[in-house]
Amino acid sequence: MRAFRYQGTPGRVVFGAGAIGEAGAEVEALGRSRALLLSTPAQAADLAALARRLGPRAAGCFTAAAMHTPTQVTEAAMAAYDQSGADCVLALGGGSTIGLGKAIAWRNDAPQLVIATTYAGSEVTDILGQTEDGVKTTLRDPRIRPETVIYDPELTLGLPVAMSVASGLNAMAHAIEGLYAPDANPVTSLMALEGLRALKVALPVITTAPHDLAARSRALYGSWLCGTVLGSVAMSLHHKLCHVLGGSFGLPHAETHAILLPHSAGFNAAAATGQLAEAAQLFGGDLGGGLWDFAADIGAPLALADLGLAETDVPRAVEIALAKPYPNPRALTPAGLNDLLRGALAGTRPV
Ligand code: NAD
Repeated sequence: MRAFRYQGTPGRVVFGAGAIGEAGAEVEALGRSRALLLSTPAQAADLAALARRLGPRAAGCFTAAAMHTPTQVTEAAMAAYDQSGADCVLALGGGSTIGLGKAIAWRNDAPQLVIATTYAGSEVTDILGQTEDGVKTTLRDPRIRPETVIYDPELTLGLPVAMSVASGLNAMAHAIEGLYAPDANPVTSLMALEGLRALKVALPVITTAPHDLAARSRALYGSWLCGTVLGSVAMSLHHKLCHVLGGSFGLPHAETHAILLPHSAGFNAAAATGQLAEAAQLFGGDLGGGLWDFAADIGAPLALADLGLAETDVPRAVEIALAKPYPNPRALTPAGLNDLLRGALAGTRPV
């Protein structure tokens, strides 16, 4: 067995149907009494219902969370936090709302309770991406990782199927990259494989029966595991390309991950055969092609062109992706990345 280092990640997880009912007790378990509640405008009604349930433990609601954590939204939320007399934050939603809670905590060290409602995994990482004047930067800090996460699969029953599929593939991408991470270890690899298995079983069920609680539970369980991998080990080419396409070309987060995953996995497969062997087996032996077939079967978007990327954008995307070195199992060259992105642009099955 290869030598390894394992660093456990702190954080408390409360999982189960109806677990949102424990939010008040979890605020108290943090040693706090008044939470500023956060959501996007789309989840404002759910947030208001949660505020009613929390009674005096809800200091106020801020419902303007937005994708990529714009700093002007964070500043408005900081003002709301101070005015409300809150002593902690409670984020209800996906990566956008969780990002806002993290941005507040990074600035004022407020404890965070997160109720995660997508499969993106941000709730279990110490990573914060923020956007200022259109430029997205990413930082890591122990203050950023939420203290407590509630996973209540009942809250995901209404996550639209298209979003569920894209977000589920987003989670699977954390697991695939975690398997060949330079700092991968037996524990994160176990989590990655179990997370992949759970999502591979759950997502096809969700496409035909979105209200199937067992499938929703399994998908949320898988997304927790995959997110924990993201928060534990280094990511490589796939996450770099998604960061470039989201940050510099404005492509949507989950869909971009979903489309790129078969291509990035196929690109790296031959350079990481040992690390990816069990994952490849899960998808019929050929990881890139098998992931593409799986994504096509569950109705995922397949072509970056459909998200608005143009052929003329590819050379600049390659240039930005290669500007700074980072670890990746297969050597990165302009020609290699160009082929990968053109395949993803057109939506062809990787060979
Ligand atoms: P999102 O949070 O933007 O959610 C998309 C939309 O779906 C929002 O309108 C949201 O309110 C709505 N929604 C969420 N859950 C719902 C539910 N259960 N039912 C109905 N509607 C629901 O999407 P996302 O993909 O979860 O997050 C994307 C953002 O998170 C990006 O900015 C990305 O960079 C960030 N992210 C960060 C990390 C990290 O570790 N820092 C990890 C993953 C994603």
